[in-house]
Amino acid sequence: MSSKNFKIAALAGDGIGPEVMREAIKVLRVTEKKFSFALQITEAPVGWAGIDAASKALPDATLALCKQSDSILFGSVGLPDRDPTIPKEQRPERAALLRLRKEFGLFANLRPVKLPKELASICPLRPERLGEGIDILVVRELTAGLYFGPKSTEEIVELHETTQQPRSYRKAVDTMVITCGEIERIAHVAFQAARQRRRKVTSIDKANILENGALWREVVTDLGKQYPDVALEHMFVDNGAMQLVLRPSQFDVMLCENTFGDILSDEAAALGGSLGMLPSASLGKASAEQMFGLYEPAGGTAPDIAGKNIANPIAQVLSAALMLRYSFGMVEAAVAIESAVGKAIAAGYRTGDIFQVGEAETRKVGTREMGDAIAAAL
Ligand code: NAD
Repeated sequence: MSSKNFKIAALAGDGIGPEVMREAIKVLRVTEKKFSFALQITEAPVGWAGIDAASKALPDATLALCKQSDSILFGSVGLPDRDPTIPKEQRPERAALLRLRKEFGLFANLRPVKLPKELASICPLRPERLGEGIDILVVRELTAGLYFGPKSTEEIVELHETTQQPRSYRKAVDTMVITCGEIERIAHVAFQAARQRRRKVTSIDKANILENGALWREVVTDLGKQYPDVALEHMFVDNGAMQLVLRPSQFDVMLCENTFGDILSDEAAALGGSLGMLPSASLGKASAEQMFGLYEPAGGTAPDIAGKNIANPIAQVLSAALMLRYSFGMVEAAVAIESAVGKAIAAGYRTGDIFQVGEAETRKVGTREMGDAIAAAL
């Protein structure tokens, strides 16, 4: 990758994917001109679109394109009502998305949640809880912990203590496993992201109960010494869940193990008001200053609104901004896209999911108009 020339695999997928991807590419094209860099964007089918085009949710040619690219801009995949006879392993959610995560060793999931003040009314919290506003980045470990440790379900047969009659029951075991190396690499991502933000990391663990948590806290504390310019605090996960709804403005970067991050990132997402606003990044192998990433909206294919030009393209547009920031180091361009989104909202543009009847000086618009408004604000 030359410093100002980037290759992007654009995989729109299913449902609203193609509609919102079109707007993200529109915005990227404006950004490219404004900031004088070159984007080679190649579109390819994935999901049901991949099955229709090449009988596979992740066609070989699509995977090959991703391997030749500097990052993947992903829409979403999966249509629950399509062909129930196709087994789970071949359905898009597993055969495309999980396969890509594995193929590119995507170990860090980043989910920013930012609530513009104009949208305070769509936040489920009372306005007085919002303080200076919500601007949180949840950094979640994606490949270790409870979801990937050894697991089993077994039938146990034993004799009852008093009656001595045999009785049986089923027992399920999940194991939480994490290594120092896995903690260090995700913590580096969190500290480096904090340097591009308000320089505060809140590390989430359960160090008072779990061995995993104690190791997590020890390793993060040690590694934090390499980032003296970033403030580090530790919080137990139960308190973290509570603080998110009591005083969300205290958080900048929340650094979480896989399971805790899964739960807290959805809790934080709810504060953002609509899935249509929330981008995400999944980052892979670290190089000195750039990371390979898959960038996608936090939501799915929204089959209920697909093809109607009513989906909110902001999550996809902000995913493209994350790509510029984290994979290409084009921070200024990323900030420009994010502030263009802010301007479109401040100017009153609302897709259906963020529109409130009776709100003054707002206008309900479609997917294309929202994309046009963001591109114009750039
Ligand atoms: P969903 O996120 O697609 O939709 C949930 C609700 O949010 C719907 O009412 C939808 O209309 C709304 N919504 C989502 N994105 C929106 C947007 N940009 N603008 C306006 N409204 C939006 O979740 P679901 O209905 O549970 O799943 C539908 C399909 O998507 C399933 O097949 C699921 O497996 C898949 N899915 C894929 C991904 C992915 O590709 N990463 C993620 C989640 C779900």
